[in-house]
Amino acid sequence: MTVGRFAPSPTGRLHLGNLRTALVAWLAVRAVPPTPDGANRFLLRFEDLDAGAVRDEHYQTQPDDLAAIGLDWDPPTVRQSERLHRYTEALDRLSAIDAVYPCYCSRREIREAVAAPNDHTGHAGHTYPGTCRNLSSAERAERAKTRPPALRVRADGLVRRFDDLVAGPTEVTLDDFVVRRNDGTPAYHLVVVVDDAAQGVDQVVRADDLLVSTGRHLLLYELLGLTAPEHAHVPLVLGPNGDRLAKRHGSVTLADRQALGEAPADVCRYLAWTLGLCDRDETVDGRPITPTDMIDRFDLARLPTEPLTLDQDLLRGPA
Ligand code: GLU
Ligand code: ZN
Repeated sequence: MTVGRFAPSPTGRLHLGNLRTALVAWLAVRAVPPTPDGANRFLLRFEDLDAGAVRDEHYQTQPDDLAAIGLDWDPPTVRQSERLHRYTEALDRLSAIDAVYPCYCSRREIREAVAAPNDHTGHAGHTYPGTCRNLSSAERAERAKTRPPALRVRADGLVRRFDDLVAGPTEVTLDDFVVRRNDGTPAYHLVVVVDDAAQGVDQVVRADDLLVSTGRHLLLYELLGLTAPEHAHVPLVLGPNGDRLAKRHGSVTLADRQALGEAPADVCRYLAWTLGLCDRDETVDGRPITPTDMIDRFDLARLPTEPLTLDQDLLRGPA
């Protein structure tokens, strides 16, 4: 049995990069032959803890767009905002084993304390210098007067290695990362681990920008006594300037593409073509090839390992 998932944040329309990753995550489950221990499942989970960024309409547009390109998923669809008690439990567990400590630093203090610009962890701009790691209780009480603390995991210098199913052998050096923000919100690294474990996810497919975060997640699985899934990180889709694809790059959402006269099936086929899964104009029974048609030919190990750069012409559409 294989359980995979797609976990978007409902903060905007999905763009071509999100849809492409979703297609891979879907195929990576649907292409697994059935086994006697239970049905394979592909789950949809909304990562919606950043209340300020969530826009309600995208609980609808995101599934609609996934369905429009031919993907489906198995119930239940969950929202992280409805599962807060699970994260509190996990944080309590980490506190109980002294795996976390309160950090009173502001972003600015951290920026100023980090002298070395070359970040050995790969977490660009986020290396924490350990300022609050060994504060006495008197020092903590003093600093607590100015601001509520975040919680950080004691991880500094630990190394985690894993075999990514797309990126290959990967090694990450950890720093002390945040698992609860200072406004009380549990951080992504914690909630992704808690939810993947609680939902029985054993295959995580997501975009490459989270590759180094996986080292943090592996440590959390260990600390929480949970079994880690396998990981497959899909290379990013970039805009013409080499930045991670974003709205400002042009016609990047399914709705944008439809406005240019492309059908969702054409968009899906284009994305599959960029993944080496079909020919540019491949048809089956006279219609564009669908994700279901690709199940038999799919192999995670044969995906491209380089990012895809979209060009200006494609993003602007036909003149
Ligand atoms: N919510 C994350 C994103 O939209 C994905 C996190 C994950 O798949 O672990 O980029
Ligand atoms: Zn600190």
